[in-house]
Amino acid sequence: MDIILLKQGEMILKGGNRRSFEQRLEHAVRRRIARYGDFHVVSRQSVVFVEPRDENADVAAAFDALRDVFGIVSLSIARECEKSIPAIIATAREQLNAELSAARSFKVETRRADKRFPMSSVAVSQAVGGELSELFPNAKPDMHTPEFTVNVEIREDSAFVHASPTRGAGGLPPGTSGRAVALLSGGIDSPVACYLAAKRGLKIIPAHFWSYPYTSELAKQKVLDISKILTRYCGDITVEVVPFTKVQEEIGRVCPEEFGTIITRRFMTRIAEKIAYRVGADALVTGENLGQVASQTLKSLAATEDAATIPILRPLITGDKREIVELAVKIGTFDTSILPYEDCCTVFTPRHPATQPRIDRVREAESKLDVQALVDEAYAGIERIRIEH
Ligand code: ATP
Ligand code: MG
Repeated sequence: MDIILLKQGEMILKGGNRRSFEQRLEHAVRRRIARYGDFHVVSRQSVVFVEPRDENADVAAAFDALRDVFGIVSLSIARECEKSIPAIIATAREQLNAELSAARSFKVETRRADKRFPMSSVAVSQAVGGELSELFPNAKPDMHTPEFTVNVEIREDSAFVHASPTRGAGGLPPGTSGRAVALLSGGIDSPVACYLAAKRGLKIIPAHFWSYPYTSELAKQKVLDISKILTRYCGDITVEVVPFTKVQEEIGRVCPEEFGTIITRRFMTRIAEKIAYRVGADALVTGENLGQVASQTLKSLAATEDAATIPILRPLITGDKREIVELAVKIGTFDTSILPYEDCCTVFTPRHPATQPRIDRVREAESKLDVQALVDEAYAGIERIRIEH
């Protein structure tokens, strides 16, 4: 039988929390592969075993899907066999026939979780390697730079044979770091920021500020489409769509144009924080990036942050545009992000935005508005849209 072995990442460092980390990872794994058949998912010794329970389970498709689940450092498809040298050799021969026939050099690497097994890891590797090099004369034993490695794992109940593992998504299992409200525009950056925040174990609640009719239904749909793509990494998502037209109109009417963007950000921050309290989130996430635009200089970021009382996480803060675009392409959001629907900020962008705003001046400019009433009204109009993976 072929099964999938998932190596857990950094959670093995987490001491007393370990079981709850494992449970969150198991839960994410189960949800992720449910559609590919009936699987039994269980953790043992920092490995999650994913065993198909029926003939029709699609192990290859489940394997592919699990490459996007955070908290997994590596994955392999392994074949289970009896814990004996002949059985291990026969299994390697059958399971890895193609690889061993093509390789010019190979080695066997054995890990022994069952410390009562009568042979040492080295002795198992030697016995299996010796036999395989006779069966596959093209493949010369090479302990240092082998083209191919046969992995043998001796565990409590049985042995497993597999090729070198594939790299997993890394990071921490979904939700193990808590929750964060992510400010999600339709741009390139903020979806990547959501991905990176989710990678560190944050459950993401996206908030989108929507200024209808300045921004269209299409602009909103674009954000929902991006969220749909993100569910692949973040699991199910509820997008909070905040009606933002009135706030933007009031800012445009009352505040000096040079502070327009900063004050807009301050409102977004306050409303997002209100959402955070409701959903039990302890941070905000944005796609801000140092120096990218006038509102992302240090002084501007400080003027925005002045409106916040919980941490604002900015995963992209030091990224180069090129690096961010590469990630956007990799996670699949780029093509949607570059669709040309206007963003609420571009509609109201000042001609000469302040790049070094003084916080006292920004506060003063903002004080001409009834901040609390505007925040409350926008918050009251929020539309929540559930998006399932
Ligand atoms: P992005 O590509 O994410 O839109 P950007 O480089 O265009 O980022 P800005 O438009 O200045 O930068 O926005 C900075 C950050 O503010 C965004 O990354 C996002 O987190 C947040 N943001 C901007 N506009 C919106 C919006 N309409 N709804 C929600 N968040 C927004
Ligand atoms: Mg933008």
